[in-house]
Formats: sequence, structure tokens, C-alpha cells
Amino acid sequence: MNMNKYRDIGFKLTPQRLAILVYLEGNKEHPSAEEIFHAVSDKYPTMSFATVYNTLAALSKKGNVLELTIDPDKRRYDPNTSMHNHLICMTCKKIVDIHHDYNIVVPDSLKNEFEITGNHIEFYGVCPECRNQKST
Ligand code: ZN
Ligand code: MN
Repeated sequence: MNMNKYRDIGFKLTPQRLAILVYLEGNKEHPSAEEIFHAVSDKYPTMSFATVYNTLAALSKKGNVLELTIDPDKRRYDPNTSMHNHLICMTCKKIVDIHHDYNIVVPDSLKNEFEITGNHIEFYGVCPECRNQKST
């Protein structure tokens, strides 16, 4: 795991912050702050929820983690900050990535005024596991 990118952005690496970063690295589950807290506090019993929450806020502010609002119940976090879209199962709240370019066109009137820096599409549905449970 390359730590230089965090040092370069002036992100102080404490052992607890490091544990959070290690947990997030390559994580595709889009965990909530609570889930991250439960996972890392197993290894770091002195970890507090505030540390997890503040670390996520700092990482998000520096653009090193995405805060997703697709789950109506709680904020979810994504270490993959490259542009991609999301699909959530509204039954079990599983979130999966969609890497597809939808070629969304912003109206010229806005394109001339705004510098467009990104977009994000949220899809809602029911995953295969939850669909199976419904039918049995
Ligand atoms: Zn589901
Ligand atoms: Mn994602």
C-alpha cells in the first residue's frame, strides 16, 4: 500500500488512521462509518467512532474517499475516487459499481457557464439474492 499519497496531501498518519486506510484500500463494499468502525476496532480496541468519523471526513475533504448518499439510511464510503456510477439494492442496501459511460450531455447554456467536473448516476433496484428470497 502506497502511503506517499497521504503524506503528500498533508494527511497525518497515526496508527489508527492507517488501520482505517488499510481497511478501505481496495474495498468494494461501500461500507458505512459504523461498519468501518466495527471492522477496525476488532484490531484496535482503543479506536473510537469519532476517530473513524473524523478520519473519513478528512479523507473526503481531501478527495481521497467518496461520500455516497445513495443509501437513504446512512452515508457510505468509497475509496475508489475515479468517476463511476452506483446501483443499490433497496432491500439489503448492497451497493455495486457501474463502470459505464452514459455520455450525459449538459445543455449548452450551462456548459458555457459552468466548468463541468463530474457526474454521478444512482440506480435503485433489487439484487439477485433478495429477488430469490422474495419468490420462495
Ligand atoms: Zn439485496
Ligand atoms: Mn463505487
